[in-house]
Amino acid sequence: MADIIDGKAFAARLRGKIADHVARLQEVHNLTPGLAVILIGEDPASEVYVRNKGRQTVEVGMNSFEHKLPADVSQAEVFALVDRLNADPDVHGILCQFPVPAHLSERDIVARIDPAKDVDGLSVINAGRLASGQQAIISCTPLGCLMLLRDRLGDLSGKHAVILGRSNLVGKPMAQLLLRDSCTVTIAHSRTRNIDEVTRQADIVVAAVGRPEMVKGSWLKPGATVIDVGINRIAGEDGKSRLVGDVDFKDISNVASAVTPVPGGVGPMTIACLLANTVTAACRARGLSDPEGLTA
Ligand code: NAP
Repeated sequence: MADIIDGKAFAARLRGKIADHVARLQEVHNLTPGLAVILIGEDPASEVYVRNKGRQTVEVGMNSFEHKLPADVSQAEVFALVDRLNADPDVHGILCQFPVPAHLSERDIVARIDPAKDVDGLSVINAGRLASGQQAIISCTPLGCLMLLRDRLGDLSGKHAVILGRSNLVGKPMAQLLLRDSCTVTIAHSRTRNIDEVTRQADIVVAAVGRPEMVKGSWLKPGATVIDVGINRIAGEDGKSRLVGDVDFKDISNVASAVTPVPGGVGPMTIACLLANTVTAACRARGLSDPEGLTA
């Protein structure tokens, strides 16, 4: 049976480390990292995410600033808020919860955020810095996946990693991070031919496609390590909905050596890495060195 890579437990330890760093920053530098979250409209799922983020931010000792805007807010009003947060020295990280209403541009909102405060790591500047090997703020979900992989496998150098999905949010930054760790990286997507043959080459498979239970045991090389980023809600046999990943967990568990579960794998790492990125951003804003163990 494949080992379970317990992202929930890892994320809890990471939040413990973050709380220690925050306490030290307060004591030695009189610095409390602050995260501002912008929520536009009343999407119930987004409200839950934002509440969780706010709660966890406060739990590690940081300041949480929540800004709720009505669904009909104009782009200019959103920009005005972002500009205020960019200029606020108590705010070290800014995040706009997506999706936003259709009349607003997510790309333009991200571009408006000061790259030094872009703790989601989604801006062109941070993506470009990562791709060209410069200091960046790294997108939270791929950062969390990398931490889990390093913890499980140690040195990743020379391993063949196949990433399923090429989104700016997950697939592409994941590829950059694994390349930086000297993996041989293949990115597969919806036009990839014979995708199961491609994944059978891999020591590491990262699945980020948003297709319920797509990856089967027959797609894997025996002993592969599997990171399942997907979060899909499907109807269960009892009529109730349940969450599954992009990997058929049961089917692969006799083939893979280790796998992240859904839920409880990558998901909890994403918020923990958002907090870690905010501490990193606060340190850089003060000219301090990066906090050990919180970034890659
Ligand atoms: P996305 O923007 O929709 O990208 C999906 C990618 O998968 C695309 O590159 C697409 O290829 C590829 N794809 C779709 N169907 C495919 C198929 N049948 N075979 C091969 N490739 C296929 O999604 P995303 O934002 O990257 O998210 C991916 C999944 O991760 C979703 O389930 C999302 O909910 C989840 N997610 C989880 C977290 C977390 O914290 N755990 C964070 C972010 C996302 P093309 O480019 O060719 O269309």
